[in-house]
Amino acid sequence: MTPELTTQLEACKTLPSPPGVATKIINLANDPDVDIREIAQALAMDPAITTKILRVVNSSMYARQGKTEHLQEAVVVLGLNASISLALSFSLLKSFQTDDADAGLDYALYWRRALLSATASRVLASAVGIRDAEALFLACLIQDVGMLALEQSVPGVYENLPEQVQQAVVISHELEKIGVDHACVGGWLLKRWNFPERIEQAVAASHNPGAIPPDHENGLFARCVALTSLIAEVFLDESGESGVQTLAEAVQTHLGLDKQKLGELLEEISVLIPEAEAVFDTKILAEGGTDRIMDEAREVLMLRSLHALQTVDSLQGQAVTLENRTKELEESSRRDALTGLYNRRFLDGFLEDAFVEATKKNQPLSIAFADLDKFKNVNDTYGHQAGDRILVATATILKASVRATDVVARFGGEEFILVFPNTDRDLVKIICERIVKAFQDAHHDVGTSEDLTVTVSVGMATHCEKQGFDSVDAMVNAADKALYSAKLQGRNRSIPFDPVEQLQVRQM
Ligand code: GH3
Ligand code: MG
Ligand code: MG
Repeated sequence: MTPELTTQLEACKTLPSPPGVATKIINLANDPDVDIREIAQALAMDPAITTKILRVVNSSMYARQGKTEHLQEAVVVLGLNASISLALSFSLLKSFQTDDADAGLDYALYWRRALLSATASRVLASAVGIRDAEALFLACLIQDVGMLALEQSVPGVYENLPEQVQQAVVISHELEKIGVDHACVGGWLLKRWNFPERIEQAVAASHNPGAIPPDHENGLFARCVALTSLIAEVFLDESGESGVQTLAEAVQTHLGLDKQKLGELLEEISVLIPEAEAVFDTKILAEGGTDRIMDEAREVLMLRSLHALQTVDSLQGQAVTLENRTKELEESSRRDALTGLYNRRFLDGFLEDAFVEATKKNQPLSIAFADLDKFKNVNDTYGHQAGDRILVATATILKASVRATDVVARFGGEEFILVFPNTDRDLVKIICERIVKAFQDAHHDVGTSEDLTVTVSVGMATHCEKQGFDSVDAMVNAADKALYSAKLQGRNRSIPFDPVEQLQVRQM
């Protein structure tokens, strides 16, 4: 402080001074023998302060059961120092608040910054373990009081300074104009007001977190005050180039907290802001302001968002794996192990559904019962393994002969059932002839000089308007009967079910 400025400040008639209640509270704060009753009495002098103290005690900042309606009880809940600090905060807030539109100082911004710093102090106090959180709250709230003093005592000091969000800009402006910054003026003022030394020291050091050495008893307290100012700025600065990176470095240097932790703290502060707005009857941030800052913080701090994304990714990954695994299991439970065709279990369900659907939609449904000819001989001559390979080849031939919407299933052994939705007698006849031909053309390597050909017999049945079956079983039976006819007629052919023929067979 220059002697000229000190004189100027001292001579200033309108220099802010604590109102009566605040003065009384400050005196009580400095009295080691003060008791709760005296404090409560002093606070009760100001109904507005009483209301605010009760609001704070009952807010989620002091998560506790049951509401307090009596000031004395609130003082007990808060504790002596906390009550004093809070009362002083409210008292000063009330007496210094102005909406002087012509002032060079942006008062609205000033108070938003003060309340943001104070709100941030709650979160910081619990993060670094500061026991007297209310003293920190007060120090943070009052840290820029030097600006109020300068605005009053140095005429026009903040004129021609339209941009006051960034403290660095304000500070260099002050240094240029009067040779000191408002932290210095604030410290001087609080000393004059007889403020507790710790608060006065922290305010004086509020532009320089490292000013008070870490091993000093007020070191941590002062660093917190200075950092809340940076935090407030992050919330206030809507210019885009946010101070999150600077803040992250400062928080790391002065409190040893990493980016991850800072992200968490900013989130906690965001949550407290609406509460603080209610307690102080002041709008601190514009609508959506906390969303903006959290988006910015996530972007700059990266870690947290990355972490969150990774969590989502890995959860999604797990879900996909699980889904795939379930699908795999589902799929394997409906497949035949040797051929990979659908198994009997799946076939039963599918056929039942197809039958109901065909009946309902009045569409033809055809099935084919295919059985390899003289397959027992194949096994007996070339061995069971050769037989297996031919069964696998059979699956390939069958699948290649039908449409994607048709179903090929292994009914058992060397018997297969094919299901052809929306397929009439004529069409299934053509398909099955093609199948028979495909088997005739297929040559299987069975380890001998000549490849082997295995033929197939196929019986067909069609469920349609002209000839409906009562059930799936009846239809499968019909196809089986047609297959029997094909075998009887010399194998290596396909035969449609013929009810007339069946009638004749039965009569014979
Ligand atoms: P048909 O022309 O009258 O159908 O004569 P077939 O020999 O094919 O008929 P049969 O029902 O008498 O014999 C079926 C044979 O199919 C019996 C069995 O050795 C063989 N078989 C059934 N399942 C398998 C299998 O999984 N692998 C092998 N290699 N052979 C099988
Ligand atoms: Mg058979
Ligand atoms: Mg057979």
